[in-house]
Amino acid sequence: MRSKVTILGAGPAGLWTALSLLNKYTDIDITVIEKEDVPGGITASFQYRGMIFDYGSHRLHPATDPELLKGIEDMLDGDLLKRPRNGRIWLEGKFISFPLKPLDLLFNLPFSFSFGVAVDSLQSIFRRKKEGSSFEDTLLAGLGKTISSRFYFPYAKKLWGLPPLELSPVQARKRIASGSIGKMIKKALSSLKGSSGETGIFYYPRLGFGQIAEVTAASIKKKGARILYNVEATAVTIPANGRQGVVVTSSGERIDTDFLFTTIPVTEFIRLLQPVPQASVIEASEGLSFRSMIFCILEVKSSQYTPYDAHYFPGADICFSRLSEPENYSMAEKPASRTGLCFEIPCSDEDDIWRLGNDDILDMVLNDLRKTDLPKPEIAEFTIRRKKNVYPVYDHDFSSRLEIIEKLLGSLTQTISLGRQGLFVHDNTHHTIEMGIAAADCLSSELHWDKKKWADYRELFDSHVVVD
Ligand SMILES: Cc1cc2nc3c(=O)[nH]c(=O)nc-3n(C[C@H](O)[C@H](O)[C@H](O)COP(=O)(O)OP(=O)(O)OC[C@H]3O[C@@H](n4cnc5c(N)ncnc54)[C@H](O)[C@@H]3O)c2cc1C
Repeated sequence: MRSKVTILGAGPAGLWTALSLLNKYTDIDITVIEKEDVPGGITASFQYRGMIFDYGSHRLHPATDPELLKGIEDMLDGDLLKRPRNGRIWLEGKFISFPLKPLDLLFNLPFSFSFGVAVDSLQSIFRRKKEGSSFEDTLLAGLGKTISSRFYFPYAKKLWGLPPLELSPVQARKRIASGSIGKMIKKALSSLKGSSGETGIFYYPRLGFGQIAEVTAASIKKKGARILYNVEATAVTIPANGRQGVVVTSSGERIDTDFLFTTIPVTEFIRLLQPVPQASVIEASEGLSFRSMIFCILEVKSSQYTPYDAHYFPGADICFSRLSEPENYSMAEKPASRTGLCFEIPCSDEDDIWRLGNDDILDMVLNDLRKTDLPKPEIAEFTIRRKKNVYPVYDHDFSSRLEIIEKLLGSLTQTISLGRQGLFVHDNTHHTIEMGIAAADCLSSELHWDKKKWADYRELFDSHVVVD
């Protein structure tokens, strides 16, 4: 009898769990269930008006483990480009380079900003830099008042929807790689090494970031796995004590499973469980929230809008957090006199903006774009896309709620939740791929789960810090 493994979600975590299992074992039947019509989850790409777009700016960071990078490079067969980073931040009416550059910081920032940072740096000698009781005081301790209150605090509110005082200090540890002025200066200085510096480059597939997921999915299929697209898991009975579980799908199929990996949002997984878990688990799960995102995609009548890959907008007066121009990432073929723009608008799916009509969203974006120095784009066509569950929200209660859910999940012997959504983390793509590889490493051919090994991996995952 061949064992049956089911994987929920065909984002990077689900795909790499499948691929790594298939590389190890030939006697396991794997079914991957994906509710979208393509693989990749948030890392997927899509075509619009002859151009390739991602769901917001996506890049493979040089922090990726070299062996994994080599594996991805081989799978992409010459299509993984090494590109120089070339972004800008709109800060108090001026653009400064991102990644940060020393000269730019010295001469291009508003004087009061540079002066404030200089004073904060001197004071930092006397500051205690330990984790505070909130995102706000952790950042103040590490970075001082100027950078925190004039850059990170408004940006944090925009991205995660809460004032910095209401965000957990864990958010600062996980999301702010340069948590002290010293680290920030070191990073800025590393840009002097040019494109050989770690912060100066990124990797990007020629046909869009989603090409990584596409080649991975193709490889999985070739190795014999079944990937069901446009199919949603709608109910799950977990496998336990050697007894098979069942995944019920939106297409009416009932998939028997000996071992289950889930990479879908953990809150959604809890909702699917049958029998329904204890009230405390449901309550904890309902208390966790994710941010959503609206993507405003423009086809612009020009061969290039700006030479920059991405522009970042921390200010509260502008609805979008980032603008990217895919052409500057991939140099992919496109109509000669056209370029594409993607504006990312973070929000909650309970906000009024989530329900705004497409024309209203475009008006809002163009109105806010006028507040910057960027040129007015001549628009040929536009479209709006929406995605839920883009960022987990780390309020002060998230870890106690997650603990209750983890207790239940940890008691399951033949079910593992992983990936960015499954572990409620902010991680990058390379982190979630590593999770998939680790998961396969913990499962034996007899489907025995090595709990100790997984616990060690979980400790490693806990040290992940997101790169922007
Ligand atoms: C705006 C933005 C920009 C980012 N930029 C970068 C970047 O530059 N570099 C980087 O390394 N990372 C970046 N990331 C992070 C990256 O997108 C994630 O690390 C990655 O997508 C996580 O993969 P995953 O498989 O864990 O989750 P996901 O990609 O979310 O995959 C989960 C999958 O589960 C599916 N699913 C959900 N519910 C069901 C259901 N009931 N049944 C079946 N399927 C279901 C979803 O459709 C999805 O395909 C960015 C993220 C965002 C939001």
